[in-house]
Order: sequence, then structure tokens, then C-alpha cells
Amino acid sequence: MMHLRRLACLPDVALERLGLLFKQSIATLKVPIQELLNILTLLGKKSGGSRTIAIMASFYRALMKFFCPEIRAWDAEAASFWDSALAGSSSLQAAVARALKIENGCARGAWVGHELWDMRKFYDSIRLPILCEELSKLNFPKPLMVIGFLVHAAPRILRVGTSFGPIIHSCKNSILAGCQLSCSFARGLLRELMQKLSVVDPEHPCAQHLDDMSHVLIGETESELKHKLVKAGTIVGQEVKRLSLTLADKSTLLPKTKMTEAVAEILNAQGILIRTAETCDDVGVQMTASTVRRASTLNARIAKGSLRGKRTKALVAVNPEAKKLTVVGTCAVQPYGHQAQGASLTQQLSMRKNVKSTTPFAGSSACTTTVIGWTYGANVDPLIKIPLEQIDMWLQLWAGTTRTERHDTRFTWQKHLNKYIGSGCKPLSTMGPAGATINAVLQAGWRPARPDLWHHVDGLSLHLDGKPFTRFRTIAAAHEALQSQAWKRASKNEHGAGLETGIPSFAAARRATKYLHKHGFHKQAKALEFVLVGFFRDPEPDEPGHKAWCKRCGKKARATRRHTVYECPDNENISEEIFRRTNAVLKEATEEHFVLYSVLWFRGIIP
Ligand SMILES: [Zn+2]
Repeated sequence: MMHLRRLACLPDVALERLGLLFKQSIATLKVPIQELLNILTLLGKKSGGSRTIAIMASFYRALMKFFCPEIRAWDAEAASFWDSALAGSSSLQAAVARALKIENGCARGAWVGHELWDMRKFYDSIRLPILCEELSKLNFPKPLMVIGFLVHAAPRILRVGTSFGPIIHSCKNSILAGCQLSCSFARGLLRELMQKLSVVDPEHPCAQHLDDMSHVLIGETESELKHKLVKAGTIVGQEVKRLSLTLADKSTLLPKTKMTEAVAEILNAQGILIRTAETCDDVGVQMTASTVRRASTLNARIAKGSLRGKRTKALVAVNPEAKKLTVVGTCAVQPYGHQAQGASLTQQLSMRKNVKSTTPFAGSSACTTTVIGWTYGANVDPLIKIPLEQIDMWLQLWAGTTRTERHDTRFTWQKHLNKYIGSGCKPLSTMGPAGATINAVLQAGWRPARPDLWHHVDGLSLHLDGKPFTRFRTIAAAHEALQSQAWKRASKNEHGAGLETGIPSFAAARRATKYLHKHGFHKQAKALEFVLVGFFRDPEPDEPGHKAWCKRCGKKARATRRHTVYECPDNENISEEIFRRTNAVLKEATEEHFVLYSVLWFRGIIP
């Protein structure tokens, strides 16, 4: 095993030789015998357990890298719009587009069914002779195919840590994950199946992500949909048989109704395994093929984010640098796929609690917005990030919709708005991206008049025309609006008055903590952070007197922020020069200041 970059650094003479070897390999359809052993290692799966991934020999990897453009060109030709594993496509965006299709279908009262097909051990049940036949039909570059087959069928050996297992010799019915060719092989094998499926209803072709096939079908009547579902299922069954593959028993038909159950029964009778369910994950995004909201997948992710947050906090206690894990760990993982159905406000609040729980202020009543803004930067705050991602996804989705889809979406949008107004302006409980986007636009404080026309409060309008510049402008405006909404919310916290004016500046506080650390006042610098995030509160009105009294002066004065900072006679005993210098400022504070800008006068944040 050698890194390809080191291979590229070889002197010219050696590279020339390597080039000759490449040439010879392609001309004779052979590879050096040392190449014929693949090392398998284990990789953890998202859903638990592990799968193997192959480390192929360096020469072979270099050879495939060399022919990469040729393979990509074939991919571009062989794969159609339905394949979201293609370079430059996003499986999430494709799933959100399917969710919109379902949402539109449900809104106009059509019959919606969703078939999710799953192959059993896909890579390990591919027969090379059949694969060869399918690839030849599609003009796959022959030399690459032969060399690929040679290496894929070579003996394998499992490595765990530093130990090796026994050599596995018979690998005819399997291709390896971890090779440049594997995706192309999978694509080639299923190409005909996908093509046949896409004619069941040309308006609703099947979508593919490697071996995951996701097919949304819509019918105007119950019997029309039933007919389509059976037809599509039968095609899958026949093709899978022809390709000598096996369907996993996880294949699912949504939603669970009398009709879909009848469809499943018909298909099962033909040996095509499919079960009905109320909900199922489609490339990690939860779907129900109905208007019923199911958020268990997202909730499970948030729960996982909570565990991760706690672990991160333990690491941060050892090394403060570990807080970087929060952004890539908790923040990036917990909301995955939320754009398809929308994250409710409760879910957003749980997510930000998980972010807060990685900081020293976890579990305290300190202001979450300030904690996140101070520690990670305001953009990490789920109250801002989640609706912003929703709006961004909508902009991309809308730009890619057809005329019919736009027409349908306008209708869905209006229906949602009616429901919103009818409910007394409560956020919608949504199972689709249109409803979720309405919620996000409302959260920014705007009015979502149409899918492509949103009004600001101050009379300005945003028209989504699909131009790149509009996307940037809209995102920038949404960002600002969401920031100001989040800080408005934060201003309701104790000593938060002043934050409602928008994003506050932490610059002075950052300078001060830096200065304190530099001069050896580490404890004081830490205390400043706690003051800043609003950790200290006034005693509750019902707190018994002896507990609420100031412990520093013994004057039976309530230990409010105001007393501690501005009135306590004990402040005279502070002798360090740098803290005494602020005494002049203390006298400037007026009653009006305390009410209007308590965040500045009690927490030191410049609003
Ligand atoms: Zn006092």
C-alpha cells in the first residue's frame, strides 16, 4: 500500500517505466501477479454493525486513477437523471425533490404510493458473467472491464488492526467496495431495470442511489395507482431474477393502506418480497408517502447529538481544543435530512440545547443564544442554521422544477397557507419541503405569499427567479432576518434587554478576556465569560431572605446584579488597579440605562 501522491513523486525515469507497465497491462489485459490480492478492512455502518471496504493494490489504483476520465465519461453517458450517486449530484436534494412530489400529490388529493427497493448483499451477489453482458451492451471500455474483473475476482484477505485472517479464494460472485469501478459496475448492472421502471409512468420515473431504488408513483384513482404499483413491482421482480440478484426483505411500500397491502400480497405471491409500512427511511430521509408527520428519524439523530454533545464536553474539559468537534460532530450530524420534512421549533430548540451542552455553561440558565454566539459564532445556532438551510434547499429545488411541478407546488403552498391562517397562525405540522419552507420563511419574520414570492415586513419583496445572484441575495437577507429574530428571542432573557437590536458585538469582551489572560488574571477572565453569557441571575422573588442576601457586605441587601456590580460597598475593597479604573464608568449608569440596555450594563455585551 503506497499513497498515490508518493507514486507521483517518483523520478521521471521511474514514471516512464510505470507508464510502460500501464501500457503493457492494457495491451495484454494482465496485471502483475502481486496485484492479485485485496485487503479487506472494516468500516462502521451508520445503522450499527460494520461492512468491509477493500484496499486495492497501489498499481491497480494508479491505473484506475489514470483512466478515471474515461470511466467518468462512460458514467455520464450511462447514468441518467435518476442516479443521485453520480458525481455532482446530491442524494439529499434528490430525496427532498421526491418529498415535494409526494407533498404535491397528497395536497391535490391524488393517490400516492412509494416503493423502496433494497437488494440483499448487493455487492456480494453480483455475478461477473451477467455483469459482463450488461456492461457490454452499454459499451463499457472493454480493457478496463477485463482488468477490473481480474482484480475484483482475486483472492481477498481480511485485516483487523494488525492481524490478518485466512485468504478467501472464491470471489466470483462479488465486487469490492472501495474501487473506482464499483459504482460504475453497479450502475451498469441496474441500468436496464431502471430504464424499464421509468416507463411505468414517464411522469414519475424511479430514482436510484447505487443499489437503493426509490420509486414514487402517483395515480388519479385508487385502481390506477394500484395498477402502476403492481406493474413496477413485477418489473423489479423479473429483472432481479434475470440479473440473479435477491431482494432483501426490507423492501418497503408506503403508506400502509388496504390497497397497498393488497399490492404487497399480489407481489409476494410472485415471490417479490415487499412489505407495507407507515414510515421508512429513503437514503436516510424519513418518508411516509402521506401528510402524516413522522419525525422519529430526526428525533433519533437529535438524541444521538445529545449523547455526542455530552461526550464532547468531557473531552473539552481535558482539552479546550476539543470544542471544534462540536461543529463537525453534533452540529453537522444531528439535523441531517431535515429539509425534506422540516425541523419543528421544538426540534430546533433540542438541537441548540445539544450544542450548548458541549460548553461549560451546559445545563445552566445562561442565555443559549449568547453561549453559542460567544463560543462557536452565531451562525452555528440551530435557530438560524436550520431555517437557513431549509430556505437554501428550497431555492435550489425551485430552480430545478418543471412547469407542471411549479403549478402543483403553487396549489400546495396555498393550501398550507390557508391551513396556517385557519389555525390562528400556528406553525404547520409538515411532512414535506413546501410546508417546511413556509415555516422557515415565517421564522425569519417574512410573509411567504407564494413559493417564489416572499415579502419583508418593511414592504420589500423577494422574487425567486432561479438566477444565481438571487440565491445569494435571498440567503443573505434570510440570514440577517433570522439573526435578528434569534436575538429578539434572546432579549427576553433576564438582563437581555438591548439584544433585540440585532447581532451584538463581542469584540470588547474578546479584547478584555485576552488582556486579562495576558496579565495573569485567568480566574477573572473565566468569570467574565460567565457574566457575559448571563450565567448570574437575580435571586427569585420567593427566595428566602437569608439565601438571597448579598454575602459580601452583610447589609441584608438582595444580591441582584445591580447590587453586586454597582452598589455593594465591598467593591471598595477591590485593590487591583485595572478593576478600579472602571469605577468612573459605574457612576455613569442611569436608571434608564438599566432598563433599556441591561445587557450592556449587567453583562457587558455591546448591543
Ligand atoms: Zn453587597
